[in-house]
Amino acid sequence: MNNWEYSESIESEKIVNIEKKYGNFIDGKFVTPKSKQYIDTISPSTEKILSSISIGNQQDVDYAVASAKEGLKKWSKTNPSERAKYLFKLARLIQERSREFAVLESLDGGKPIKESRDFDLPQVAQNFFYYAGWADKLDIAWGNEQYKPYGVVGQIIPWNFPLLMLSWKVAPALATGNTVVLKPAETTPLTALLFAELCEEVGLPDGVFNLVTGDGSTGSHLVNHKDIKKIAFTGSTGVGKYIQKSLAGKDVGLTLELGGKAANIVYSDAALDEAVEGVVNGIFFNQGHVCCAGSRLLVQEDIEEKFIKKLEKRMQTLNVGNPLDKNTDVGAINSKDQLDKIEKLVNEGVADGGDLFQIECELPKNGFWFKPSLFTSVQANYKIATEEIFGPVLTTLTFRTPEEAVEIANNTEYGLSAGIWTEKGSKILWTADRLEAGVIWANTFNKFDPASPFGGYKESGFGREGGRHGLLSYLKVSS
Ligand code: NAP
Ligand code: MG
Repeated sequence: MNNWEYSESIESEKIVNIEKKYGNFIDGKFVTPKSKQYIDTISPSTEKILSSISIGNQQDVDYAVASAKEGLKKWSKTNPSERAKYLFKLARLIQERSREFAVLESLDGGKPIKESRDFDLPQVAQNFFYYAGWADKLDIAWGNEQYKPYGVVGQIIPWNFPLLMLSWKVAPALATGNTVVLKPAETTPLTALLFAELCEEVGLPDGVFNLVTGDGSTGSHLVNHKDIKKIAFTGSTGVGKYIQKSLAGKDVGLTLELGGKAANIVYSDAALDEAVEGVVNGIFFNQGHVCCAGSRLLVQEDIEEKFIKKLEKRMQTLNVGNPLDKNTDVGAINSKDQLDKIEKLVNEGVADGGDLFQIECELPKNGFWFKPSLFTSVQANYKIATEEIFGPVLTTLTFRTPEEAVEIANNTEYGLSAGIWTEKGSKILWTADRLEAGVIWANTFNKFDPASPFGGYKESGFGREGGRHGLLSYLKVSS
């Protein structure tokens, strides 16, 4: 099948200035890690080394937490409208330097520039604007109730939306008077390091935002630190459970934003071409490295054949390749480890008896790539129908009645998001009422707004990020 041919349109890398080596950002400045240990961060689309980042050890985490504790004395008492000014300044600077951030995000993590430029960065700036607006209105939010910040907050984020996850966590935490120690993912630390430079530039008081790069061990030191009063974690359900166990019995706040296996339900009365677009966006956006990805297509049995045909035709038009090419729809898989995980699950799906469709396309020689894929003839008990693949792989299941659709959709340990496609408003409401999912989209998918809370049910975690609810993740409220 022939694709539309596009000429290359490569975004220049010249706008970013990457240091050979980075330390941690503690007490308002970049410091040499006490661990003296470094690891390379690479570009997953070329395997080229971009920089060396520090692997923070116990001493580095101690230093960062001590700095946040010191910073808290002033920050928690800073006039809320003053706190807002810093957040507004950060939002403005992020907008001014958004192209630079977007290129860096695509280089370090492999996501297409059109997504980092048009989705991640605008959302990041909006989050800072949004929570800047709340900082001096907390009295309005809680009326007569008493509230206070937790104190020193540890924040651990994943690699799929590195700067966006930073903004979801840092903006509300600072707006409510907490101070922060952040641990970004090992494979995507560069935009967080650039954000630390912005904190320096806006003159954020020392110790308010601290950054310790590293691996899982660094995150574990943070979780178990005696002076941390709250942990906010986004990542896998496995690590989330480990953190929850570590904190059991301690007076430490916890919010967990974990994995998902969302159902995208297409009823036979849906506008099928629109539904195809929504299903494609739902699973191939950000290479499927999306916690709320619509990774289980639930299609009504009488339209299965027609819908799958349309879907395969549309999938074939996806451009896979260089993340910095403005025409790219699907970029590189974030790491070799993640690619291995996707390949293993897909091979198991084939061995179990699933029919695999993959688009015809040429993949670059270097880097980590996976062709957009679709499974049909899947049984509900196959691993590909139950486990999060976290890659560009869609699994199809069929249903006959709305009741059956709901039953299949809820037949998962996760409960983060879901999609419903139908022309009947009443069917949307009937279905949404019965789905166990934190976010439900109807006749659209992957729509985000800083004012709208996001979070899971069941093993997708607890606590909400975004909106007024997101403030609660960083305040102790009592009446
Ligand atoms: P992960 O392995 O759980 O890692 C997440 C973060 O935790 C990383 O910074 C990681 O460091 C760190 N970490 C690893 N082991 C740790 C430990 N023992 N103690 C403390 N921290 C530790 O998850 P991932 O593979 O990076 O991310 C993918 C997962 O995140 C998916 O399951 C996805 O669904 C979920 N996710 C959820 C949301 C949401 O909002 N619900 C959003 C995005 C992603 P290293 O990077 O150095 O390993
Ligand atoms: Mg990287």
